[in-house]
Amino acid sequence: MARLVMKFGGTSVADIDCIRNVARHVKREVDAGHQVAVVVSAMSGVTDQLVAWCREGAALHDAREYDAVVSSGEQVTAGLLAIVLEGIGINARSWQGWQLPILTSNAHGAARILDVNGAELLKRFKERQEVAVIAGFQGMHKETGRITTLGRGGSDTSAVAVAAAIQAERCDIYTDVDGVYTTDPRVVPRARRLSKIAFEEMLELASLGAKVMQVRSVELAMVHNVRIFVRSSFEKPEDIDPHGTPPGTLICGEEEIVEQQVVTGIAFSKDEAQISIRRVQDKPGVAAAIFGPLAEANINVDMIVQNVSADGATTDLTFTVPDADYQRAIDVLAKSRAAIGYERLDGQSDVAKISVIGIGMRSHAGVAAQAFKALAERGINIRAITTSEIKFSILIDEAYTELAVRTLHSLYGLDKV
Ligand code: ADP
Ligand code: ASP
Ligand code: MG
Repeated sequence: MARLVMKFGGTSVADIDCIRNVARHVKREVDAGHQVAVVVSAMSGVTDQLVAWCREGAALHDAREYDAVVSSGEQVTAGLLAIVLEGIGINARSWQGWQLPILTSNAHGAARILDVNGAELLKRFKERQEVAVIAGFQGMHKETGRITTLGRGGSDTSAVAVAAAIQAERCDIYTDVDGVYTTDPRVVPRARRLSKIAFEEMLELASLGAKVMQVRSVELAMVHNVRIFVRSSFEKPEDIDPHGTPPGTLICGEEEIVEQQVVTGIAFSKDEAQISIRRVQDKPGVAAAIFGPLAEANINVDMIVQNVSADGATTDLTFTVPDADYQRAIDVLAKSRAAIGYERLDGQSDVAKISVIGIGMRSHAGVAAQAFKALAERGINIRAITTSEIKFSILIDEAYTELAVRTLHSLYGLDKV
């Protein structure tokens, strides 16, 4: 007997038929003798609709009310799955974030989980063999008692937090792909499924654009050492061999991975904008004058490139911000023009960031250089580069995103054979 968390994303609970399919997956694990906590997302498209209604209601709305609205999608699916499970003879009870409770910080819309109370769930596993169906994506602020949400894609994080709280053996993430691939399989059909990926690599992949797992869920899994298995919910429950290993990807500690490739995966993000400050004064304190006000405005600055000054007096400085913050960043910099001292601002939002990730890069030199050559041969211009221990990222024109990803995917031998 094992204790499991099973998480089902939006496309896996898209309608009642899908929910019936989910219920059969749950039954399969219950029949095998396991104690099961299920975490569900809202039906696909529902959260988008709820967010749109909030914006329509008022462009600038109270984040507490945003959370009251957008958390409702998960309430529906949790209740429905409990109904369907009971209908096929399985004891089940639904739980919303405030009922367990799942306590969070006060950052409405992007709250952090502080504590999950799993005691009642454990008691019910034991006494009634009851399946817990938990609404993902939501929690309750520790002090005010108000409903919070965890940021888009947050049900992954709910699932990992529940798994840590009930000391589950594994956290299974059921989604619309059968694992984590070398890159988004929708963009590169030749992408290959990884049988295992290290937490650090998954963290980079997720934070650099691969939305298969929410970034915070991977952070949390790393801290609590929760093993995550990403697999498909579209596999027929009846076809699964209870003794075999289903297709999927295990996200685990580095030490569990025997065959380490130099490059594990490629992520990309079109959600980038580039800003260049031309002929900015080259003197101490300028970087603070630029990035201080941006930080105060809560704008995340990512890639930064500063040229060495040719005349000793002025230089150009280029950096990226999220697309959504582009206009705000330009406004902040225009306001601080006197304090910074520059000639003009240039910017564009049709840029993309491509990132190449692999733990093997720690011990291999020249990995990035190969990429620069391959992209140059395709006529793709590189606007900025950043590197760190296990990844490098390049900024290019958005129109070349797919070509660049495919080129690098082949270059590093990741294509399916
Ligand atoms: P869910 O609704 O189940 O949470 P998501 O849409 O959030 O599912 O995440 C699954 C999607 O992530 C896939 O459909 C796929 O297009 C995308 N994706 C991006 N990068 C990858 C990758 N490297 N491997 C697998 N899927 C990826
Ligand atoms: N329903 C939420 C969203 O669409 C949370 C999730 O699906 O993980 O972002
Ligand atoms: Mg998701």
